[in-house]
Amino acid sequence: MTVVIDCVAIGEELMQEIVKETEDIKKKGITPGIATLLVGEDFGARMYRKQVEKFCEEAGFNYFNENPPADVTEEEVIEIVKKLNNNSAVSGILPLRPFPEQISDSAVISTIDVNKDIDCFHPFNMGKLAMGEATFPPATPSAVIEILERYAREYEKMEPKDFFEGAEIVVVGHSNIVGKPLAYLVLNRNATTTVAHVFTSMKGNLEKHTKGADILIVAAGKADLIGPDQVKEGAIVIDVGINRVKVLDEKGEPVLNDKGKPKTKTVGDVSFDAVKDMAKAITTVPGGVGSVTNRMLMKNALKACKINHGL
Ligand code: NAP
Repeated sequence: MTVVIDCVAIGEELMQEIVKETEDIKKKGITPGIATLLVGEDFGARMYRKQVEKFCEEAGFNYFNENPPADVTEEEVIEIVKKLNNNSAVSGILPLRPFPEQISDSAVISTIDVNKDIDCFHPFNMGKLAMGEATFPPATPSAVIEILERYAREYEKMEPKDFFEGAEIVVVGHSNIVGKPLAYLVLNRNATTTVAHVFTSMKGNLEKHTKGADILIVAAGKADLIGPDQVKEGAIVIDVGINRVKVLDEKGEPVLNDKGKPKTKTVGDVSFDAVKDMAKAITTVPGGVGSVTNRMLMKNALKACKINHGL
């Protein structure tokens, strides 16, 4: 029977570990803290900011909110980052993108203190990640690794090392935030690693690669990109994608809400119902990778706190 991996339970377990570790650090008179940097009012970034604030509160972290207006200059944003670098109460800095046009992502990111770069944006930390020496493996890719490691121990009765070594892993998506760092994380665990992306699909080659995967990890942001034809029988399928789609009735017509607007729901990149029975294990959306991602960010913040205080 297919294992539907309970990522919510993994997230809760991690949170308990984080709360416990935070209490131990606080006994030394130090409180971990995360600062978010949101420039302007982007909706998605605002939602993410709120989530980080909530998790900080739950874990007993300090939380710092930097939110300059959208017309701020790049120099002013860089000054904010420098101020956060010099604030010993801030363990980790999280820039929330997109930034307005006049602010260069790379100018901001390369100003962040490498020991406060808790989502691994800085080129120095990306370099370390590529070399297999990551200090702060980025949150979403490390959530995927955490899920697979726990799955390996619990269901395959295998040490993660043996589970990854030589496994045929296909990552769909090659963004700097998810696909690329994830590919490094599995490659550094000696998996045979294939990265597919939009050009793979455009050449009609996506299925050729995904069908060969023992472990298929999809992070493309395209609902229903992966159906049963793209999955090998008995594969482990990890769906990172988050998409808002219209709810349809049996005739394929949009279902309307009380206000007469189409109802929407959150789905992943994998057609869950169609793929579920052929997979050995699968994650859901919602209730999947996203339930673990923020916890991995907080684990990195704890690590940063310890590094910055010499603990
Ligand atoms: P992104 O920057 O838009 O990257 C998407 C990647 O998928 C790109 O590499 C793109 O290739 C590739 N792609 C797009 N269409 C494709 C297709 N038809 N076939 C194959 N590859 C295709 O997005 P992201 O930031 O990496 O995020 C990916 C998804 O994960 C999104 O749905 C996002 O919401 C979700 N996400 C989830 C979490 C979580 O915690 N669960 C965290 C972060 C992101 P090209 O670059 O060549 O176009």
